[in-house]
Amino acid sequence: MLPASVAIVGLGGLGCPASLALARLGVRALTLVDPDVVDVTNLHRQPWHHPADVGRPKVESAAEKLRRQFPDLRVEARQARVTAGSVEALFRAHDVVLDATDGVGTKFLLSDAGVITGTPVVYAGVLRFEGLAMRLEPRGPCLRCLFETPPTDVPTCAEAGVLGAMAGLVGGLQATLATRPNAQPGLGLLHVVDGRDLSFRVVKVRRRGDCVACGEGAKAVLRDEDDPSCRVPPSTSPARSAP
Ligand SMILES: [Zn+2]
Repeated sequence: MLPASVAIVGLGGLGCPASLALARLGVRALTLVDPDVVDVTNLHRQPWHHPADVGRPKVESAAEKLRRQFPDLRVEARQARVTAGSVEALFRAHDVVLDATDGVGTKFLLSDAGVITGTPVVYAGVLRFEGLAMRLEPRGPCLRCLFETPPTDVPTCAEAGVLGAMAGLVGGLQATLATRPNAQPGLGLLHVVDGRDLSFRVVKVRRRGDCVACGEGAKAVLRDEDDPSCRVPPSTSPARSAP
């Protein structure tokens, strides 16, 4: 099912390939959201950004290339950080939101906003040779069903490294998941890619009845959490999952 409009939060290693894949799939409108400017260290894994774009806002750099390549695509560029105060309006204006960020706090904020607004979110993360992607339906399971609480001791991307090819692979997978609603209510599929042996695993994740965001009688709350830049959850061992 092709969504008409998709918001992509983060125009780095995941958001660049995901936006290209969505445009190729035929999505009519993309909104790009990212507060950062292009850094020279981004160039090897963020294909929309070229050496001449260093110092430009990432959303402008990406939007320019997308408009050039896909003249019929409507692209809106917002150089902004998604916050608890702004996230709800963004979600209500789009059919699906892609979490292409690298900050743990923002990832949980996006997941909670999906529950509150009834908007599907496609979560993704890459660390070293491992990539994760999962579509989060509004009625769960959500990211808090998967990780329970935001990790606090994860290494930074600078410490851990991010393999550009893995980011391209996972960004493409993320775009595909934007078009594929989960078939079974309360059951999510966590896609795990190991770049060392190119193995793919799919882990079934069930909605937790006691989840503070999507559980029975729960009421998700939007709040800005600690979000040190360039961090992603490192674990591939979901808090609650079924094999
Ligand atoms: Zn949940």
